[in-house]
Amino acid sequence: MLYLIPLFLILLIPIIADIWVKYNYRKYLKVDNAQGITGSEVAQMILKKNGIENVRVNQASGFLSDNYSHGSGNKTVNLSEGVYSAKSVASVAIAAHECGHALQDRDGYGFMRMRSSLVPVVMFANKLSYVLVILGAIFPVFGFGWLGVLIISATLLFELVTLPVEFNASKRALQELEALEIVSDAEMSGVRSMLRSAALTYVAAVAASAIQLLRLLMVLKRRR
Ligand SMILES: [Zn+2]
Repeated sequence: MLYLIPLFLILLIPIIADIWVKYNYRKYLKVDNAQGITGSEVAQMILKKNGIENVRVNQASGFLSDNYSHGSGNKTVNLSEGVYSAKSVASVAIAAHECGHALQDRDGYGFMRMRSSLVPVVMFANKLSYVLVILGAIFPVFGFGWLGVLIISATLLFELVTLPVEFNASKRALQELEALEIVSDAEMSGVRSMLRSAALTYVAAVAASAIQLLRLLMVLKRRR
């Protein structure tokens, strides 16, 4: 039974983090900010304040699908429906966070560039993992374990580099909101709590991958 514990952790840690961030999001989505400003207005204000004119603010479909995109010369802050036009503490926090990524992009923030260059590696590793599962099922006699170690390591590296990118975007978001003086002190603590729980999901991903890697390494060691 003991050997099942890592498996449970790998599955449970990200699920718990996901529940926690959604719980916090729903909580602060119900709290309107006193100024009555929407997520898209906050984003426009932050971009304008920093003289960023080449980034558009778009409405995206989906739940919590907010992101900053800078591919193929098209730079956009994409805010989900619940953020773009909502006047909540949650929408302010998320909009400011995505603008934090726009600021990183402008500054050529090292970890962001490193993360972008790792994207194709992780996509390849992902595809390879599917092939590996199929090959493993067809040829169970061959050990594909070390290839698995390589794939999980690539994913883990990507998730590790994502951490400073996400933490830094939230730090910038808080600085921008403080400078703009559009949220009260009480609302600011809500913003902080929102951003902290969002950061937790990235930490959870790292923890899950690290346990997965350790588990595989232990299995391989036992086989030898
Ligand atoms: Zn982010």
